[in-house]
Amino acid sequence: MKNSSFFDVIIVGAGASGLMCAVQSARRGKKVLLLEKEQQVGRKISVSGNGRCNLTNARVSAADYYGTPQLAQAVLNQFSFQDCLSFFHDLGVLTHEEGLGRIFPLTGKSSAVVEALRLACLENKVDIRLGSEVKKIEKKNNFKIILTDGTVYMAKYVVLACGSKAYPQVGGTESGYLLAKSLGHHITALTASLAALNVKEKAVSRLQGIRAQVQVILNNGSEKEVSGEGEVLFTHYGLSGPAVLSISSAIGKELLKGPVNVSVNFFPQIKDMTTFIKQRISTMPERKAKDFFAGMLHENITNLLIDFCGIKKNILVKDWTENLIKNVSKTLCAWPFTVLSLRPWTEAMVTAGGVNCAEINYNTLESLRCPGLYIVGELLNVDGRSGGFNLHFAWGCGYVAAKAMPEE
Ligand SMILES: Cc1cc2nc3c(=O)[nH]c(=O)nc-3n(C[C@H](O)[C@H](O)[C@H](O)COP(=O)(O)OP(=O)(O)OC[C@H]3O[C@@H](n4cnc5c(N)ncnc54)[C@H](O)[C@@H]3O)c2cc1C
Repeated sequence: MKNSSFFDVIIVGAGASGLMCAVQSARRGKKVLLLEKEQQVGRKISVSGNGRCNLTNARVSAADYYGTPQLAQAVLNQFSFQDCLSFFHDLGVLTHEEGLGRIFPLTGKSSAVVEALRLACLENKVDIRLGSEVKKIEKKNNFKIILTDGTVYMAKYVVLACGSKAYPQVGGTESGYLLAKSLGHHITALTASLAALNVKEKAVSRLQGIRAQVQVILNNGSEKEVSGEGEVLFTHYGLSGPAVLSISSAIGKELLKGPVNVSVNFFPQIKDMTTFIKQRISTMPERKAKDFFAGMLHENITNLLIDFCGIKKNILVKDWTENLIKNVSKTLCAWPFTVLSLRPWTEAMVTAGGVNCAEINYNTLESLRCPGLYIVGELLNVDGRSGGFNLHFAWGCGYVAAKAMPEE
């Protein structure tokens, strides 16, 4: 044993949930040790939102979460959007709202958020130790925390805030799952989420770089439609962009059973595409397919549509058969793609799955398996849509666990 010291709370992981939990616990008078394996705090926060940190969402609700939305609801009951905004404003972070309720720091840089949290930790006397990777946790009366270098710390309460395995290049790791398992927890199937899609259709590469406002629908045969609306970005391997990312968690789960069919509706705002195409034909009957779609579709999409539907290039649109019109309309509203896999963990922003929430008290985030242990953030089987929801959940968890720990 190299070193031994006793703390009220030891928090494993100085990411979003860990930093919040550290500030809130210290404000409640606890002696807090925050252990981080990396050489800086909040590395994932730093890269979030393309380096701008979409820190919460004005419209956050339990419906924005997968996995265990009931636990997300319990966290939101204690840490609302307004609570989140007030917390960061009180730390001195100015914010502004962008489309779809997304909140960013006014500086346009995630460092505004990370630095505010780091300073709040220091001002509240949180002991932060970087380059400190927790290898083992043992529980008797108190917790014994052992680092990879052999250093030992003792604590009354432990918070596992290790995050997920997504994005290993900024600290993503399986460490939290292993520690949770060693303390009696079970881990649900882990799949990538907020990840782009590899598709079977090679022709998609002809659309590389094109962005379009669409609806992407997951065709999994269930009665409740799963779909994402917004921008899609076509790439050499398949589909990316917010409309796709927002349903990638559900797609990942379906992929466990095999390839998945999705369809892209290029015109979600048009309710009856066949009638729309017929009306358009009546206004420009002498055009050929390529010119007919000018002003309506990107040229490369038109070319692919012509090939996909077998449209003869020289035929005038007024001579299109009823079947062809139906085929074109159907393709534009439900262009089929076969998803083979999600992009790798190095590109997935979030992990779906995690510590089984049936083993957690929803209102306190205390383990039902190991009293005094709290499990927070992305390590839990809760993942959010794209739009600030994952960070909101992480902050909220940190807040709830700190509040739940008994006063001394
Ligand atoms: C590229 C990218 C962009 C994103 N953009 C957004 C966004 O704009 N908005 C949004 O809401 N969400 C975004 N997310 C998701 C969001 O960042 C995470 O959901 C959130 O950071 C999770 O918080 P956490 O506290 O659970 O884990 P993390 O923030 O990942 O923190 C976990 C910490 O624990 C440390 N750790 C792990 N194991 C150990 C150990 N054994 N010992 C010591 N330390 C350990 C890790 O190094 C890490 O610092 C993004 C994610 C990525 C990868």
